[in-house]
Amino acid sequence: MSARILDGAKIASEIRGEVAAEVQALASAGLRPGLAVILVGHNPASEVYVRGKVKSSQEVGLYSEQHSPPDSVTTEELLALVDSLNRRNEIDGILVQLPLPPQVDSKKVLLAVEPAKDVDGFHPMNVGYLSTQRPGLVPCTPAGVMEILRRSNIPVAGQEAVVVGRSDIVGKPVAMLLLNQNATVTVCHSKTRDLPEVCRRADILVAAIGRAGMVTRDYVKPGATVIDVGINKVTERADFDRFFSGNQAGNAKRLESFLAKGSTLVGDVHPEVAEVAGAITPVPGGVGPLTIAMLMANTVKAAKLRRGSRIPEFAPR
Ligand code: NAP
Repeated sequence: MSARILDGAKIASEIRGEVAAEVQALASAGLRPGLAVILVGHNPASEVYVRGKVKSSQEVGLYSEQHSPPDSVTTEELLALVDSLNRRNEIDGILVQLPLPPQVDSKKVLLAVEPAKDVDGFHPMNVGYLSTQRPGLVPCTPAGVMEILRRSNIPVAGQEAVVVGRSDIVGKPVAMLLLNQNATVTVCHSKTRDLPEVCRRADILVAAIGRAGMVTRDYVKPGATVIDVGINKVTERADFDRFFSGNQAGNAKRLESFLAKGSTLVGDVHPEVAEVAGAITPVPGGVGPLTIAMLMANTVKAAKLRRGSRIPEFAPR
């Protein structure tokens, strides 16, 4: 039997609609939440991400502005920019697009962002709020994973959750969010012994590894929910064939696009897992679209938290 597909694009669009309604209500009360994005230099991937973030901000009605210092920027210059944004009341969210150039002390710059405006949720203060279950700003991709589960009515409390990956931006915060919602959580990484066996315990398996198609069907308990956070670019035809060999729906269309563009996106989960999982997020169109939607939601949340509204979590429904 084929897994239920968890449509991230649809969920993200629902969230953006709710955020837009909230922005409109706040704006009519005289408060238009504002997001400032800092993009250093000309990294093509970063430029694409930032364009998406700015476009989405405009669509939901946020005020947004972009700062684009040159590649040669110094740590001190970036600190001065962050400081000026920290001081401006109309700016509720500050996002520093990573990676920063090598001469810049990235950690110092991220630490300088006022925690109340840290819409990426990376500041140690927000990490601490998350781990002690206090209201704060939660990293966007992990928050998006939880929205997919919640809006797809997948129970979390009491479930066995296995997270593969322990990065500060995905694995650890996802694990903490699942724990906060009463899942029994196991976090795996490159030193975990017998990874497939550990993963097979999972009712909810989250893959945030950065290795195309690493999670194969022998990692998955039949009927489990599989959330694939990975985004990997595949350019070799042999790899393409390894992932998309059968006649499953969508393969022919994907091949056509692969041949035209010379690449396709593959998650950390092998597409064959859809034959054993109960529910699965596709790549693309699964977790990816949630990241920007949750950034929009975080900016509104920051605007409210900064003004003393006690809004514990983004839960507009
Ligand atoms: P990362 O910082 O490179 O972390 C990868 C994690 O996977 C590490 O904890 C690493 O273990 C673990 N790992 C690597 N190889 C492994 C193996 N063979 N067995 C078990 N564990 C292994 O990556 P990340 O930033 O968390 O991103 C993970 C993936 O999510 C990437 O594909 C990235 O592109 C994607 N991503 C997507 C979004 C989105 O919007 N959908 C957002 C962010 C990231 P160690 O700690 O032991 O090294």
